[in-house]
Amino acid sequence: MEIFKYMEKYGYEQVVLCHDKASGLKAVIVIHDTTLGPALGGCRMWPYESEDEAITDALRLARGMTYKNAAAGLNIGGGKSVIIGDSRKDKSEELFRAFGKFVQSLGGRYITAEDVGTSPADMAWVALETDYVRGLNDANSSGDPSPVTALGTYKGMKAMAKLAYGDDSLKGKKVAIQGVGHVGMYLAEFLHKEGAKLIVTDIHPELVEKAVKDFAAKAVRPEEIYGVDCDIFAPCALGAIINDETLPQLKCKIVAGAANNQLKEPEKHGVEIEKRGILYAPDYIINAGGVINVADELMGYNQERAHAKAADIYNTILKVFEIAKRDSIPSYLAADRLAEERIARIGELRKKYIPPRCC
Ligand code: NAD
Repeated sequence: MEIFKYMEKYGYEQVVLCHDKASGLKAVIVIHDTTLGPALGGCRMWPYESEDEAITDALRLARGMTYKNAAAGLNIGGGKSVIIGDSRKDKSEELFRAFGKFVQSLGGRYITAEDVGTSPADMAWVALETDYVRGLNDANSSGDPSPVTALGTYKGMKAMAKLAYGDDSLKGKKVAIQGVGHVGMYLAEFLHKEGAKLIVTDIHPELVEKAVKDFAAKAVRPEEIYGVDCDIFAPCALGAIINDETLPQLKCKIVAGAANNQLKEPEKHGVEIEKRGILYAPDYIINAGGVINVADELMGYNQERAHAKAADIYNTILKVFEIAKRDSIPSYLAADRLAEERIARIGELRKKYIPPRCC
């Protein structure tokens, strides 16, 4: 790939290729944009088939973090790293410590955390070599992000109800949840408490049974979830589930769930969904609770503050739809615009010279 052309096109700041012969480390760290603050984004470990594939993935993910962090109102930029390797057999202390040294060499421009294929235990090795790692399993840690992601998704869903029905109550609303894993199960709990009627599916029957027992949910088979009669469809399992096959099946008024990259082809399905009269909550806006939670560690973790900020996803959703209306664009594009406008505004503000505080 023509990497500088790509960097220029999408405004990337820095791409670092990390190699350590002794540990076998081959990693890519990408810093997309630090206008708002240091780039925060997890470290993924994946058996990429080629170097190009690894670099492309890191580039794509880092840029996604810039948008997610900016739209969430965080004072952090976007970055991501990938380690090329099989997380089931290639992990070692040396590998993660070698990675930590490269993170440290960036002096805080990039802050890492766990992601797909890495765990808090791996990050504890990274932390032996760098100050710039978060989401560790220690006393200062923000802990499991899933309940906070679910809280943000729940609040975002309420804002979607406000937009669709003029009232944000979910009492009596039929919500179909695809995937009752870490996030989906907590989401089911919030919704059940508010009096929503749940329909759930998962490929793991014991999770479905739990949701049926604890939250009076109705169970359906995985392939049935798209076509169920419901008000809100909440994808909390897989990406690319809004596509040519599923869109014609949807009977809901709202799609609002925690899964990443829900639109298979955003330019096509982000438009098509609206043509069908369905309101779509942009995924990276509504599922930002987890990153909001871990980012709070940068200020010394305060659970109350982190949860309040995650709950504010309600207002972020309303802002996205204001922009969508203002500019006559679909919601997925309005989300990007919200992020871009914040980066531009704060970037401009930061250029101003303010004398240092004396005390
Ligand atoms: P998870 O793996 O705990 O849960 C996903 C669930 O979906 C699992 O129970 C799995 O069995 C189920 N599933 C998989 N394929 C399915 C299918 N075809 N039909 C029905 N169910 C299926 O993951 P999670 O942490 O709950 O995350 C869920 C989604 O939210 C993912 O897309 C993730 O990237 C996204 N997300 C999670 C967080 C977080 O804090 N955990 C933050 C942001 C985004």
